[in-house]
Amino acid sequence: MKILVPVKRVIDYNVKPRVKADQSGVDLANVKMSMNPFDEIAVEEAVRLKEAGTAAEIVVVSIGEQKAQETLRTGLAMGADRGILVVSENMPEPLAVAKILAKIAEEESPDLVILGKQAIDDDSNQVGQMLAALLGWAQGTFASKVEVAGDKVNVTREVDGGLETLALSTPAIITTDLRLNEPRYASLPNIMKAKKKPIDEKTPADYGVDTAPRLEVVKVTEPPKRQAGEIVPDVDTLVAKLKELGAVA
Ligand code: AMP
Repeated sequence: MKILVPVKRVIDYNVKPRVKADQSGVDLANVKMSMNPFDEIAVEEAVRLKEAGTAAEIVVVSIGEQKAQETLRTGLAMGADRGILVVSENMPEPLAVAKILAKIAEEESPDLVILGKQAIDDDSNQVGQMLAALLGWAQGTFASKVEVAGDKVNVTREVDGGLETLALSTPAIITTDLRLNEPRYASLPNIMKAKKKPIDEKTPADYGVDTAPRLEVVKVTEPPKRQAGEIVPDVDTLVAKLKELGAVA
């Protein structure tokens, strides 16, 4: 089995984002960037399938600026075999990303494409679904468990009120939810080994995809500041305050 894992370079989840003064977006100058956390989960799942002898090859793909190469190296250090970097100085929108990934999937013919359920920078939650539609492949989104059983892949999804299990025919698209697994940290020897693994460099034009934006960001603003709290001296005062606010009867 061959697995393709698209990984996005995003602002690190520990960083508090700052909005640019002109409200055109989030300020990314000198900000720590990392692999999208859901994509780490996707790489981990692929590596576990390889360790179990189910998968033979894992290819990581990133679309973005040249520095996305570091994100690919992280995936390679976790256990992927090779990378494809599609260099685009402006971050393409989800539809363009899905179109590029569809071309790569046609070229590489993976059995599974495992993506994150969403990228934490713009929270689109679109690429996996669009990719499945463009390719006409089965999809299991928000996976909390993945099991390969014969020629099917069983994907358990957390839905309102319980768990739903889908049996997908391959090739298929899976998107990862938070509880699927806990990604490993790459060991130092594996980080060193990853430097020698091959990364192919491409451009969106190589896949005939136009990445011109179709959406216009009107403005980006900070969330409203939280109001200051109040410290009360004892429980009686707390209860009285809550009654005053109508929070308790
Ligand atoms: P989104 O629909 O943008 O929230 O992203 C969902 C998933 O698509 C991510 O978790 C990644 O697996 C993949 N993805 C999105 N953008 C990119 C990108 N620029 N490069 C590689 N993978 C991406």
